[in-house]
Amino acid sequence: MKKKNFRGYTKPICVMMSLVLCYTAAYYAVNSIEMTVPTSLTYPDEELYIVLDAGHGGMDGGCSTSDGVPEKGINLNIAKEVKELLELQGYNVVLTRETDTSIHDKGVEGIRSQKESDMENRLDIFNEHNNAICISIHQNNFTDPYYSGAQMFYSENNPESETLARIMQENFVKNIQPDNSREIKLCGKELYLCYFSENPTVMVECGFLSNPDEAEKLKNPMYQKEVAFTIFSGINEFIEKRG
Ligand SMILES: [Zn+2]
Repeated sequence: MKKKNFRGYTKPICVMMSLVLCYTAAYYAVNSIEMTVPTSLTYPDEELYIVLDAGHGGMDGGCSTSDGVPEKGINLNIAKEVKELLELQGYNVVLTRETDTSIHDKGVEGIRSQKESDMENRLDIFNEHNNAICISIHQNNFTDPYYSGAQMFYSENNPESETLARIMQENFVKNIQPDNSREIKLCGKELYLCYFSENPTVMVECGFLSNPDEAEKLKNPMYQKEVAFTIFSGINEFIEKRG
């Protein structure tokens, strides 16, 4: 993988602030009839947080490779790597989970209720900060083992999510998957976190565990680092372009 220089990302805060304020003013101008205002644009002066969600955990392994490796561990490895890179840059980073666990409320019984509680708690973490960028990390699965490649999902809940998804998809193509021609995709309510998050949010499906070649790569810690660097690059590019 061609390493990129990711150091030196600083901009005078006043320039950044005025650009965000201009953007906010322009947004109000063109959306004066709309009642909802994306929270991330409403509080440009608040500190930025990057929230990383390693999909699944605990009793919920997510999808698996043909030899039984669940995505939950792959997701967590990648999320932790992204966190490390972002923290080196000085970002505030929050993980929805740091171990192999479900984050449902204590005392909730039954797998279905625990899953619901887990998802609600993850959504609370996504929406906890007014100025946040949220990334949910998953692996894909399909009945036909032919399909491979990363794909980004976003919702219309925050207008910046589409831009984030597009930049992230481009970074996967640039960095590790030059043959990937997948389109970013609008999600529905079935992707609960992605759909209801109020901040710019993308669900990153890093690749298909149902594809034997891609599954081998995704199990490999070195490739997981490359995926992590790609997600990190996407976040950085989004922040830079946002101004
Ligand atoms: Zn998943």
